[in-house]
Amino acid sequence: MDYTLYLVRLGEISLKKMNRDMFEAKLKHNIKYKLRPFQSRITKQKGRMFVQVDEKAPDELVNHALATTFGIVGFAKALSCPKQFEEIVKIATTIVDEPFFNSASTFKVETVRADKTFPMKSYDISAELGHLVLGRHQNMTVDVHNPQRILYVEIRDKAYLYTSDHSGPGGLPVGTAGRGMLMLSGGIDSPVAGYRMAKRGLRLEAVYFHAYPYTSDLAKEKVIALGKILSPFCSQLHLHVVPFTDVQLHIKSHAHEEETTLLMRACMVRITTELAAQRGCKCIVTGEALSQVASQTLQSIAFTDSMTELPVFRPLIGMDKEEIVQTARAIGTFDTSILPYEDCCTIFSPKHPLVKPNLESIRNSYELMDIELLLKEALENTELIRL
Ligand code: ATP
Ligand code: MG
Repeated sequence: MDYTLYLVRLGEISLKKMNRDMFEAKLKHNIKYKLRPFQSRITKQKGRMFVQVDEKAPDELVNHALATTFGIVGFAKALSCPKQFEEIVKIATTIVDEPFFNSASTFKVETVRADKTFPMKSYDISAELGHLVLGRHQNMTVDVHNPQRILYVEIRDKAYLYTSDHSGPGGLPVGTAGRGMLMLSGGIDSPVAGYRMAKRGLRLEAVYFHAYPYTSDLAKEKVIALGKILSPFCSQLHLHVVPFTDVQLHIKSHAHEEETTLLMRACMVRITTELAAQRGCKCIVTGEALSQVASQTLQSIAFTDSMTELPVFRPLIGMDKEEIVQTARAIGTFDTSILPYEDCCTIFSPKHPLVKPNLESIRNSYELMDIELLLKEALENTELIRL
């Protein structure tokens, strides 16, 4: 079988000392999973991985796979040859004679000599290849500061040459930080929160609380659509849809109006904690940002935290809405998030929610509702959707 070669640049993983092997093995596994059903072979070298993919795999598929795999800082389709200068010249000629390269007007050559025994210095390799380009393509000039094209040369076990370099998402490979349960609503914030924690290596599952018919099935479809956008970044994402109507109706009829939002959030956190235990998740992730709404004040957060033994990660806690929106746009969730379907919180939300709850009295209100059985039922009727 013939393979196409991709050179993959690693970032933070290369700085790891003791457990770098674990990070690299996970990344290798995640890349292979992404490239299925095509065959691939992956080898690693300092700061790099070399991915050989069945040449039948379309470029767009491989580009999308690598551009959404955390742990990858950049990647490029590359050509390799033995470490002899005349071989390097041959490969360089192939690359610079492609219209992609020579349709530009400025370029530079950038050489990394990882193998210091190679007889030519990086500068000399770049200079020679620069002359090669100038000789073959008179329309091109060298611009070392702001070139339109760069011919990269890396001298390692072999020589590797490439030109079009793509960015990866950075971060750490999904699965290296354990598992977490993301509370995924249809809003702008929680998909961004999921993205940020997956970027730190958490393997996520997602839970959505659905209050049908108060929230329509379109709202559920919207959360599924958001999950599908997130899924490539997560390697794989399972969505648990919890039927939440009975719980909400019970809260509405048993609690003081101003406490309903906080009690509802407490119920969500209780169910999420149980679900997390069933699924081996050791933390909860939410899209809360400090003081964004009443249920996200310091006092409210202290209350919701007190309802679970698990660490609750809130990666957006210190972010402005505008900063969150920027990330939502960048990862492609924004347009779906702003579709106008109600979420269960807005429908049941009181006019004047408590902003600074007293921990003891709100915990007391929770106990008085006597809601554990309903929570158990909701959990039992949870639907699992594989995205
Ligand atoms: P988002 O934009 O993520 O919906 P928000 O600004 O609307 O957040 P809230 O509605 O108070 O804020 O929700 C805070 C967090 O609680 C959300 O980011 C999400 O993690 C979780 N959450 C809220 N509603 C739901 C739901 N129906 N299902 C699952 N999680 C939810
Ligand atoms: Mg919301």
